[in-house]
Amino acid sequence: MKLILATKNSGKIDEIKKILSDLDIQILSAEEVGIKNDIVEDGKTFKENALKKASFVLLKTGEWTMADDSGICINKLSGLPGVKSARWTGKSRNGKEMVSKTLNKLKDIKSRQAYFECTVALINPKGKHWFFTGRIYGRVTKEPKGKIDSKLPYDVLFVPQGHKKTFAEMTKEGKNKISHRGIALRKLMEFIKNEINSGPKLHPGFSCG
Ligand code: IMP
Repeated sequence: MKLILATKNSGKIDEIKKILSDLDIQILSAEEVGIKNDIVEDGKTFKENALKKASFVLLKTGEWTMADDSGICINKLSGLPGVKSARWTGKSRNGKEMVSKTLNKLKDIKSRQAYFECTVALINPKGKHWFFTGRIYGRVTKEPKGKIDSKLPYDVLFVPQGHKKTFAEMTKEGKNKISHRGIALRKLMEFIKNEINSGPKLHPGFSCG
């Protein structure tokens, strides 16, 4: 089975490939199959955006495709930046600016609860789709901690509940074990394993749904 990742975010691609490495399938990013388009993410929910990205790539390739839409939702900011996490600072998409904007908005605010959400849309060659969601609750720090990854900038600001380190201070494996993306992708992995175990639906040459 070939699975295309409908994203250009290299940070996400690395995490997704690592987490799904136990699956006996070929995983290729959209760029690896020649798709360079930017997909406009104008949905109101993670689900809408994830499905939009996955459907776009399916139309181009005809292959099983998955897309992740994710972001950080901060209670005292009414859930923002949420689905707008990547566009929180407009077109600049500068990680450091995203971090300082978030900290400025929370200046003088004591309650710093937040959660990360990741929704994965999986779509088959016939257009049937499934969603897998992961959430992790925690808090936003007062200052950035750890090395900033320009593709996943909010990692320097987020300490998961029950932990002392930000995502950025953890090892990649440590983050993947507990993260929103890890949770959603392990659900996806179970689904793919069960589908394969329960019949030949996902094997090349067969179609599902
Ligand atoms: P999108 O899913 O392409 O809309 O992008 C989601 C945006 O949310 C990313 O560009 C990051 O800014 C942010 N984001 C999503 N997941 C993470 C994460 O695990 N760590 C840090 N930032 C994240």
